Amino acid sequence: MRRPTRNEYGVKLDKNGYAPTIFPCEDGICYRCRSTGLTVRHEIYGGALRSKSKQFGLWINVCPQCHAAIHKSGEKQDYYHRLGQYRAMAYYHWTVADFRRRFYKNYLDITED
Ligand SMILES: [Zn+2]
Ligand SMILES: [Zn+2]
Repeated sequence: MRRPTRNEYGVKLDKNGYAPTIFPCEDGICYRCRSTGLTVRHEIYGGALRSKSKQFGLWINVCPQCHAAIHKSGEKQDYYHRLGQYRAMAYYHWTVADFRRRFYKNYLDITED
């Protein structure tokens, strides 16, 4: 499969398939604990949805400790799944159905109207 160079909104993806994050975060500052230093990118939706997370900027910079903590905890992952959907819907002006069309699930406690 050919790797896309832009997402559906025409935003250019870097050579690793990332659009800029839509979260207020910076390289070198952990989004979760705010420590400064080495950060890694955590894609909010993993597995088959990892490349979509990258394409839509649904990733955060976190320190290695927080990254490990997130991956160890289903509860923390679920928190970011919900936060990511909320943020994506606000940023892209998506309805629940628009989100679900792309990510196949509704993580929020709200229904589609
Ligand atoms: Zn951290
Ligand atoms: Zn991760």
